Amino acid sequence: MLIKDFYKNKKPIISFEIFPPKKDGPIETIYNTIDNLKDLKPDFISVTYGAGGSTTKKTVEIASIIKNKYNIEALAHLTCVTSTKQEIENILNQLKDNNIENILALRGDFPNDPDFEFPDPLHYEYAKDLIGHIHSNSNFSVGAAAYPEGHIECTNLDKDIYYLKEKVNSGVDFLITQLFFDNEIFYKFKEKLDKENINIPISAGILPVINKNQINHILSLCGCHLPKKFIRIIEKYEYKPEALKEAGIAYAIEQIVDLLSWGIDGIHIYTMNRPKTTRKIVESISTIRNVLTEE
Ligand code: FAD
Repeated sequence: MLIKDFYKNKKPIISFEIFPPKKDGPIETIYNTIDNLKDLKPDFISVTYGAGGSTTKKTVEIASIIKNKYNIEALAHLTCVTSTKQEIENILNQLKDNNIENILALRGDFPNDPDFEFPDPLHYEYAKDLIGHIHSNSNFSVGAAAYPEGHIECTNLDKDIYYLKEKVNSGVDFLITQLFFDNEIFYKFKEKLDKENINIPISAGILPVINKNQINHILSLCGCHLPKKFIRIIEKYEYKPEALKEAGIAYAIEQIVDLLSWGIDGIHIYTMNRPKTTRKIVESISTIRNVLTEE
């Protein structure tokens, strides 16, 4: 089923993101992750795409397992920055052959190589170019990334939103945000989107932080703002891992409860392949989820 139709018929949409096992890791480990997520009844599960070829084949395989073995709707991520148009075409065909109907279309990060060149004169430079191609040539439902604090390469949020609008106009059905820890930033971002008439459904990306090592990684990835109350938790429990875990999960739950009360279209949990953490979060909002779904 097309994910764009889920958003038309139901609110909130609850989705999970998982990633393929590392390069030499056996694909079977992902079964354990999905087995432990399935009874939480996600509306869809997305699978990340390792730009540069490391785990690209596994994305199609895992999305296919989610869809065809578990009967859960799958969203396959796809990045374009390191691929030729022909390579992208091959992956689109594989997705079609595997009955996958939904793609999160991304540019991807540039490789950490000062000599990086696009792989071919025929390439997709921005996500909007990939999205335009998919939209005009297939029936996939297409999602795209949105950045409430601006994308890390962009120095001006208004400019980022201008490019987001171009991206949406090339054929995006729904948006999933970069992680954030300050809901007020998201609400201001949403006001700006409304002013620009960007009004397709949006899911908020929530990452439960359960250990201190994640923080530096997160900051290098997206440079997002850490609110004082969040920093207090990290500082207070940095040497008490179990307490930090509990507090990090509680923080994510508080963020989600607030977003749901505000009326968000969807919550997308970056599970980090940790079903137990995801379970604690989803079970603690189960009544709210039921009440809102019945409205
Ligand atoms: P774009 O929308 O193309 O934007 C990239 C940058 O270019 C932005 O700074 C934008 O302002 C600027 N820009 C856009 N259009 C123009 C233009 N016409 N002229 C000048 N500048 C322009 N990465 C992976 O490798 N694999 C994944 O599976 C993955 N999943 C993700 C899932 C989510 C929900 C999110 C939020 C991110 C994900 N990423 C993933 C990271 C993403 O690939 C990077 O953030 C990447 O740097 C940008 O991708 P994009 O699709 O947002 O790019």
